[in-house]
Amino acid sequence: MPELPDLEVIKANLLPKVQGQLISHVTVFKPSSAKPSAEAVESGLRGNIVKSVERKGKFTILGLKDKRSLLIHLMLHGQMDWAPTNTPEQHRIVASLGFGDSELRIIDASGWAKLFLVPPGELDSFSLLSGLGPDPFDPGFTSDYLKRLLANFPGSVKFALMEQKAVAGIGNAYSDEILFCAKIRPTRKAAALSEADRDRLYKCIRETLRWGIVEAKARMPTGIRGEIREFLHVHGKEGQPCSRCEGIVRQITIEGRGAYYCPRCQT
Ligand SMILES: [Zn+2]
Repeated sequence: MPELPDLEVIKANLLPKVQGQLISHVTVFKPSSAKPSAEAVESGLRGNIVKSVERKGKFTILGLKDKRSLLIHLMLHGQMDWAPTNTPEQHRIVASLGFGDSELRIIDASGWAKLFLVPPGELDSFSLLSGLGPDPFDPGFTSDYLKRLLANFPGSVKFALMEQKAVAGIGNAYSDEILFCAKIRPTRKAAALSEADRDRLYKCIRETLRWGIVEAKARMPTGIRGEIREFLHVHGKEGQPCSRCEGIVRQITIEGRGAYYCPRCQT
C-alpha cells in the first residue's frame, strides 16, 4: 500500500501534469469504486479544472475549480499512472481522468481503489478525513501527543504507528522502518515504552518519513506509478544482513500482519 512518502512523491510529480488543466474526459470502469456514484463522479469531473493536488493521510486530494474535491484512496494494491489516452491496460483500470491526449489512471487489479467526489465546503467534515489523526508533519503532532497516544494504546507499538485515527499516513512498510531507526522491536507494547524509547521514536517518525520522500523521489523523479521499496533497511528484507549491525533481518507475524526487524539491534 502506498504510504506517506510514496504519496508525497506522487503529489509532487502529479501537480505539474494536472494543475490548471481541463478534465476533458472521465470514465469510471468500476462503478462500485466511485462515490456517491459513477455517474456523479463522471459528470462532476468532466469539464472541471484541477486547481490543486494535496495529500491527507493516505488520500490524494484533487481540488477542483468549482470547489468540489476528488479524493483518491489506492487501498492495498492500487496505483496511479500517467499514460497516453487509449493505450492498453484498460482491464485493470478503475477510473481514468483525461487531460487532452494524456490521462490519469487509477489502476487496481483487486478493484478496491476508491474515488470520492466531495461537495464544496464539505471536505473538512468528510467522515473519512475528519476521522484521521494528525499528519506526522503537522504542528499538532508533538512529542506530548505521541506520548499520550502510546500510553493509551492497547496493542504493540507497530500497530500504534499504523493506526490512522491516531497518526495518518504510516503503514506496514514505514512502521517497520521507523522502528528500525528507533531500535525498538515491533512487538513491544506501546504503553510500556520508556521515555527514552518514546523520544527516539518521535524523532525517527519524522526523520524516516523525510528520508523516505527523498529516496523515493530520487528513484521516481517524474513518475506517479508505484511504491519504491528497494532502499528500505528492514521491510521486505528477510534473511538479509542488517545495515547497522551483524544481525540478520527477520520476518514475524503480529496480529496477522508481517513485521520485519533486526533481532540484534532492535530491543
Ligand atoms: Zn541490526
